[in-house]
Amino acid sequence: MLYGLKSVGSNYFEEGLNSLINAGEGLFPSNDLIGSELRITKEIYMVGDGKRGLSHPLDCCIYLVDCGGVFVLIDAGAGLNSELILENILNESIALEKVKYLLLTHAHSDHAGGVRYLQENLSVEVFAPIVEAELMAFGSDEELGLNMARGVIYPLNYNYIHSKADRVLVDGEEVQIGGKTLRLIQVPGHSPGSSCLLIREDNVLFSGDVVFHGGTIGLGNWPGCSLDEYRRNIGKLGNLGVRMLFPGHFLFTLRDGQKHIDTAIDNLKKPWVPPAWQHNHPHY
Ligand SMILES: [Zn+2]
Repeated sequence: MLYGLKSVGSNYFEEGLNSLINAGEGLFPSNDLIGSELRITKEIYMVGDGKRGLSHPLDCCIYLVDCGGVFVLIDAGAGLNSELILENILNESIALEKVKYLLLTHAHSDHAGGVRYLQENLSVEVFAPIVEAELMAFGSDEELGLNMARGVIYPLNYNYIHSKADRVLVDGEEVQIGGKTLRLIQVPGHSPGSSCLLIREDNVLFSGDVVFHGGTIGLGNWPGCSLDEYRRNIGKLGNLGVRMLFPGHFLFTLRDGQKHIDTAIDNLKKPWVPPAWQHNHPHY
């Protein structure tokens, strides 16, 4: 693989990026984990995240929620070594048949590239936000921000894995799964239909790439990202009383989640570009 890249004049940096495409393989032997390491709360597990070395390096944080014997995955990762996600679930002694739903926050590769694999290997019903469902199925590289991200975040030879949602959710729509009510809150800005998922009973918010710990936002320079849209929509996350905040990257917090969200809301009222990602650095 690297030989071929050298022949088209790639530099050391690009080779490093391209090696990422296979990097999750053999990351750790599955029996390294004895179970329960990935359980954050009584009902919430983190079953994938590239940064933490839990799954392929390009994967976002992938959460699994126990809704009372029925399990829901939040986001799917990049789809480059999705077996690791299944291994992580099994290591927590959760039968794969109990994972019945996959809910997406948005269509970007690191969140939705793994949808097709999970559809093929689990009996999941896939729910995606309106606009993002369309991008997942038919989005061009340009619309998915990939033209700009390829060679910087994603390897040069990364191809988006398109997939079809079983159900499209609109802003404010609620779905009842087991004992939980999950509400889609669409906050365009990071991407045209970027969304958060609120578990109403527990004041838990999965914020995707809309808002992160510390109140930074997922603002970038790729097509589909819009500061105007962020400013128009971020207020939807106000006054939710969020306790636990589980973003699509970086840290999560188990208390005072709303405080981090409110920081983002305040920053977006100010006249300068708000802090984005972590300290304004790219996330990979
Ligand atoms: Zn994203």
